[in-house]
Amino acid sequence: MPLHYRDDILDNLVDDIYASSDLSVSMPKYKMPEKPQEPRTAYQIVHDELMLDGNSRQNLATFCQTWVDEEIHKIMDECVDKNMIDKDEYPQTAELESRCVHMLADLWNSPDAMNTLGCSTTGSSEAAMLGGMALKWRWREKMKQQGKPADKPNLVCGPVQICWHKFARYWDIELREIPMEGSRLIMSPEEVIKRCDENTIGVVPTLGVTFTCQYEPVEAVSKALDKLQQDKGLDIPIHVDAASGGFLAPFCQPDLLWDFRLPRVKSINASGHKFGLSPLGVGWVVWRDKEDLSEDLIFHVNYLGGDMPTFALNFSRPGGQIAAQYYIFLRLGKEGYRHIQQACYDTAQYLGKEIEKLGVFDIIYNGKGGIPAMSWSLKKGLKPGFNLYDLSDRIRTRGWQIAAYSMPPNREDLVIMRILVRHGFSRDLADLLVDDLKRCLVYFDKHPVQEPGDEKESSGYNHL
Ligand SMILES: *Cc1c(COP(=O)(O)O)cnc(C)c1O
Repeated sequence: MPLHYRDDILDNLVDDIYASSDLSVSMPKYKMPEKPQEPRTAYQIVHDELMLDGNSRQNLATFCQTWVDEEIHKIMDECVDKNMIDKDEYPQTAELESRCVHMLADLWNSPDAMNTLGCSTTGSSEAAMLGGMALKWRWREKMKQQGKPADKPNLVCGPVQICWHKFARYWDIELREIPMEGSRLIMSPEEVIKRCDENTIGVVPTLGVTFTCQYEPVEAVSKALDKLQQDKGLDIPIHVDAASGGFLAPFCQPDLLWDFRLPRVKSINASGHKFGLSPLGVGWVVWRDKEDLSEDLIFHVNYLGGDMPTFALNFSRPGGQIAAQYYIFLRLGKEGYRHIQQACYDTAQYLGKEIEKLGVFDIIYNGKGGIPAMSWSLKKGLKPGFNLYDLSDRIRTRGWQIAAYSMPPNREDLVIMRILVRHGFSRDLADLLVDDLKRCLVYFDKHPVQEPGDEKESSGYNHL
């Protein structure tokens, strides 16, 4: 190399990355750059931007996994090139998916777990779409057989996750969502039955309601539907949205009747990437029986080799999450899941007690009976100089992300904060969080941001 070139290339070779000429100019943001970059430089830019996302493990608003072990990182790396849809090319990934489906069918007490149908999805949202479509198709076939019009389908549910609103709108279904009333924040059998008719394609109870983290009473609803069938001849199936509960109840409340032990439960969805403990990007849907999934919904493709039945909204999809899910099933077994989830419940209940002791909050959910989580509102009638939106803002100065939000109809007046306790949230972290909450209260005491008694400025807590 001629010596006089040395200076030209020096900074590319030995300079500190932040002193390089590449990083001394600002990068294009909304137009693709004309020229390539050194991988090291481009990586550093992306890496640095991502810092501003905050620390996912301090995100106590999400239900999704934010801690995974070393082996999962390895599996994800080894599968980065695997396409889930190429079942002929990657038959072993397909086999792992199928084993997971059967393990889940068995876990959820399918009467014929070896032969039933189910699949992986990108999450519970896609799984809910598939479960909902199966309900719609079954209902339509039934109406056709009876020579009745099938143009006004409806679905009955409690306060549901947004995926069901999407399902209803995308597939032209009337959503009969039971509103919250007073202290009833979930569905009740009576409210369900009131809304059922011959156009009801199904009832969707949620095992772990998004807003309150409570379980809806699947067994009681199922019994009420049995009675409706006796009285009026309407046979309405249940799909359980067990996004969270599907990976909790079987381990921590094995006697709770919510799954295929109830004959009326025809399908169940769950999120592998929530309490299934998989990395992001996997959900599951399982049918009670082969007959509960209309053959008409299954596509057969041959251009990947072989005859591959598929039922999914996506085509290409990463395979790593499925391999990781299988790894976790093997790694933990039922006992491992039970230990992890129970530790989360214990911490949630502990937090419930500690946060109640702070004296200004009413505990709305104390971590018992539903998801490992807890939630609170400001004590009725109290005007402590801040509202929960202010607190959410303030606690973020220490990196904690805890959402404050109002309830859906008819309890929009109720504003709460909610904490999801997930794998990786230790008792020590919980103590640190409580200390930080105390610090916030001291801060607001000195620097109130809401005028005492100012109704307009506050966000609803003083209407409770
Ligand atoms: C999270 C959640 C969903 C959506 O699941 P994704 O896996 O995020 O797509 C649906 N229903 C309930 C009850 C949920 O908690």
